[in-house]
Amino acid sequence: MKRNIDWSDLAMLYKEVLEDMIFQFGYRGIKNKKPVIHTAGFSALERAFKALNWDDPHYLPEEGYTCEVVGCMEKDTAGTHFGILRGNSKLYLRLCSFHYRLSCCALPLPPIKQYALDREAKRDSITNILPTGVC
Ligand SMILES: [Zn+2]
Repeated sequence: MKRNIDWSDLAMLYKEVLEDMIFQFGYRGIKNKKPVIHTAGFSALERAFKALNWDDPHYLPEEGYTCEVVGCMEKDTAGTHFGILRGNSKLYLRLCSFHYRLSCCALPLPPIKQYALDREAKRDSITNILPTGVC
């Protein structure tokens, strides 16, 4: 029995697969003070970028792809509460490895990007869970 293939769904699946591969194996950097992902000259990544019609490097949005400390554009590598008293912190932040290491010390909270503060303000005060659709 022949299956009907929905080519638009298949194209979307391929796009998502290529994006997943790029985000797993691509190289992160900063260009013009903005986060980017690039191929570093690896041919499989170059082909994936080309298939998606992405420039190399490809600019990323700051929100969701960078550390949430003001002025830092490094890749977020950890999600954590800031500070030595982590359990008492209401803010759950995405931090780069440098700011994560700082978060382990008894240092005051550095300035945090507004979009992260806005997101954290939406957490349930009892469960500390974000509402559906907020990430
Ligand atoms: Zn950082």
